Amino acid sequence: MIEKVLIANRGEIALRVLRACRELGIATVAVHSTADETAMHVRLADESVCIGPPPVSESYLNIPAILAACEITGADAVHPGYGFLSENARFAEILEEHKITFIGPSAEHIRMMGDKIVAKQTAAQLGIPVVPGSDGAVETLEEARKVAAGMGYPVLIKASAGGGGRGMKLAMNAAELDNAYLTARSESAAAFGNDEVYIEKYLARPRHIEVQVFGDGQGKAVHLGERDCSLQRRNQKVWEEAPSPALNAEERTRIGEIVARAVAKLGYRGAGTVEFLYENGEFYFIEMNTRLQVEHPVTEQITGLDLVREQLRVASGASLGYAQDDISFLGHAIEVRINAEDPRTFAPSPGKVTTVHTPGGLGVRVDSAIYGGYVIPPYYDSLIGKLIVFGKSRTECLMRLRRALDEYVISGVKTTIPLFQRLLAEPVIQDGLYDIHWLEEWLEKTAREEAD
Ligand code: ADP
Repeated sequence: MIEKVLIANRGEIALRVLRACRELGIATVAVHSTADETAMHVRLADESVCIGPPPVSESYLNIPAILAACEITGADAVHPGYGFLSENARFAEILEEHKITFIGPSAEHIRMMGDKIVAKQTAAQLGIPVVPGSDGAVETLEEARKVAAGMGYPVLIKASAGGGGRGMKLAMNAAELDNAYLTARSESAAAFGNDEVYIEKYLARPRHIEVQVFGDGQGKAVHLGERDCSLQRRNQKVWEEAPSPALNAEERTRIGEIVARAVAKLGYRGAGTVEFLYENGEFYFIEMNTRLQVEHPVTEQITGLDLVREQLRVASGASLGYAQDDISFLGHAIEVRINAEDPRTFAPSPGKVTTVHTPGGLGVRVDSAIYGGYVIPPYYDSLIGKLIVFGKSRTECLMRLRRALDEYVISGVKTTIPLFQRLLAEPVIQDGLYDIHWLEEWLEKTAREEAD
């Protein structure tokens, strides 16, 4: 049994993990940089250890410092949250070597899914539908030309080591291919220290639909339905909902079962997300994230499961304890990401939060680590909170979201709250008809109209 968890993260997710531990009677250790001394996760944890200066490479990514913090406090497990070290296979291995439980999948599965080419090949072998594309890495320009011509334009050149929406180049036609291929390789070498790329058919107007899965590492796995994360800006999700307004019950069951079967066969342990693009009724695998996602609360709202508690249980060696038939889906949930950013230019807006008033009431959940008087440091991600609303139907959810946003007060810094208030007035949002390009096009259009 896990007795003390070190939370190797910060912000709202550190608090999220802490809450699950507290409910289970598990002691918590917060780690923090010198910039986060007054952070909420530090205040609420049973113990805390400073692991370095503000830059993430010297603190939240500093493996020796985190390991030392485990030794000092006697933590027997580490929860990595999302981002930072959550998909670092070497970190998982090092913990294992020190007899500390990594709350996540095996290092082998992290490594497998972290390499996009291997991930795609594995997915295809497991019966998951994938985007048509090159058979593995494309090593020369000649080969790239041949592959692209064979499958037809437009095509996307993707970095095998890519992530976070980076390392992708679009070629609309043969004239654009050489440049796209060469730039993708050099950019990916510079960004990831690896210039391996592959080619994929570019889907024009897909939705982003991902399936949440959970395995016990002992051959059992279930799916917890899908999330629709099509509202994106620069490949970053800004709004997520479950269930997807685009799927019917048959499609939901079909893709969920395919994914759960694949994950069970893999012997995968813990929470995972299989991401798809969805167009014209077809699903195309793009990647698997081997960790908890930012948007996991929408799944929790419609299934009633605490995903962090499940992660802790499975990491302790427990088996799943329930079958697919025991999981039921109820109602609708939407999450919006509240960032400390200008709602029009998206320029970061760090600084002192003077007042916070969080919305509440039936069906409203706020996952956030800010408080009145808190100073948002300039060094980290601008996500300062997530507003999650739950309702019997999507319509009720939208009404509730509108009212919760109107109640939400964060003063002192700019936030993306006004963006969501504007979005709610859009018929496309009300009807759930958006695809992955809609938000960026809408932002451009409305900016132009305002400039005129
Ligand atoms: P990352 O790991 O960087 O997030 P993904 O492969 O998940 O990369 O892709 C990120 C986003 O890029 C997707 O959500 C989608 O918006 C877009 N994208 C990826 N592959 C394709 C494709 N084949 N066609 C069209 N858009 C794509």
